Amino acid sequence: MQDVLKAWEGMGYYARARNLHKASQLIVNEMNGIIPENYSDFIKLPGAGDYISAAVLSLAFDKPYAVVDGNVKRVISRLLRIYAPVSSSSSRKIFHEKADLLLDRSKPGAFNQAMMELGALICRPKNPDCNACPVASFCLAFKTNDQAKFPVTIRARETPEYHISVAVIFKNERVLITRRKSDGLLGGLWEFPGGRRQEGEPADIACIRNIKEKVNLNIDNLDFITHVNHAYSHFKIQVDVFQCRFKSGRVALKGPVDYRWIFLAELENFPFHAAHHKFIPMLNDSHEDRQI
Ligand code: SF4
Repeated sequence: MQDVLKAWEGMGYYARARNLHKASQLIVNEMNGIIPENYSDFIKLPGAGDYISAAVLSLAFDKPYAVVDGNVKRVISRLLRIYAPVSSSSSRKIFHEKADLLLDRSKPGAFNQAMMELGALICRPKNPDCNACPVASFCLAFKTNDQAKFPVTIRARETPEYHISVAVIFKNERVLITRRKSDGLLGGLWEFPGGRRQEGEPADIACIRNIKEKVNLNIDNLDFITHVNHAYSHFKIQVDVFQCRFKSGRVALKGPVDYRWIFLAELENFPFHAAHHKFIPMLNDSHEDRQI
């Protein structure tokens, strides 16, 4: 699994890598290496929902399942002037039914790809290129010239932002890294230990507190290295990074599931999440410059 995450590193959506790996193992070990071609079996594979199942079965096996992604919903909402909000769960059934009605059952794979491409290249979110559109003659929004009203959306909630303090803890020439639990956010990836700041808490104090809580170590000689911002798909983080010295204690994990004391040169052997890649290149220099 760590090899898969290392190869996937930096691309985000790590649950997809984990699920792909689990599904591959299941197919090889329990299905004689044969990918199921029917919907009810395929959708049981880890990570396979409606979208993945319809996409794989129609594109790989020409099975008659309509793919419904954001691009397809936008096209359908304009073609049929659908006022139901594309992002609400209550309208999911409407878009699936319409997509199913439109599907060309003689060439479902080609049809699904064409719909997705139409949404991505022609029926774009802003400024759809209706003059170049192959389905303009039966597009209701084009006829009424109100393409801009569709798709109807509901205002997205504001993306949460978290303030994190992270410690690069040196014990002699090695630093401590920890691994996140396998499922959940950024699951299975490695990171320097740390955690969220509480309201009004100074970043260095938050760092000392989190290190005690998460890995049971006492640290001192905190030296601020840098501040990085990073946006993930569902949240943003602001990270204060400190270099510090191991003072006392024995590692006991609360949250992380594994740890290593490694040399900086070994960092490249472990998959880290994207925010860490913004400051890892600074560590060699900062360590040499600021001998603790
Ligand atoms: S005619 Fe315009 S609005 Fe209608 S599907 Fe084509 S690009 Fe989209």
